Formats: sequence, structure tokens, C-alpha cells
Amino acid sequence: MIYKSFCKSCRIPTRQLCVKSRSFQNVEANVLQEQFQEWNGVLHVCKRKEHDCAFVHFASDVLASVCYHRRSNATINGKRVQILPVYKDQRPVHYAQPPLSFPPIPPPSTSASEPQQQQQQQQQPQ
Ligand SMILES: [Zn+2]
Repeated sequence: MIYKSFCKSCRIPTRQLCVKSRSFQNVEANVLQEQFQEWNGVLHVCKRKEHDCAFVHFASDVLASVCYHRRSNATINGKRVQILPVYKDQRPVHYAQPPLSFPPIPPPSTSASEPQQQQQQQQQPQ
């Protein structure tokens, strides 16, 4: 493992995630690191060039956890990636922090099934 820049997270398993993607194969860590800047709180990326797994180090446990819990729709460079826990003492790390709660996006209503809501929207001055 090449540590280009040592960070405090390097020895803290709860601040790391294993991110897997076939597109990571034969990509240098520093290239991926630039792409991971779109993720909140990423410090740096450790990986072997030939591997499809990258170890992504975060500035805090919370930031790593938030990313972990969003793993179902995580993308890098517009491509879907797989987020896996890092192992500590041969057990997967438990990322305790819940994801930041955003209100769920309601599906677009295709019919006028909620006339009351529509009325309210019409009354609001734009
Ligand atoms: Zn690190």
C-alpha cells in the first residue's frame, strides 16, 4: 500500500470505506483521489493500481458513515460504485452514524389525485 500523504484517518478503520468498481482497475490512486473530491470529506485514496478496490479515507467517522449509508446510489465520475465496509480485527466495521436525513422526494404525480394540494399551489403567489 502506498501512502502518498499520511493522514490521521489512515489508522482509524471507522474513517475508511472500501469502494469497489471495475473501472478502478489499472487506475492510480492519485487519479481516483481527484474523482473522489466530489464526495464530502474525502482526504485521500489508497489503492494498488491493479486492484478494483480503493480505500477511501475520510476526515471523520461521521463523514465516512454518511457515505456508507448512501451506498445504494453512490457514484464516482458518473458511474455506479460499490461501497463495502473496511475490516477491523477480521470483522466489518460498524458505521454507526445514520445518514443525514433528507425528506424523501415524492414521485411525480401523473394524475390530479390531490386536488387540495394543487389548489394550495395555485393560491401561492409566484
Ligand atoms: Zn489516510
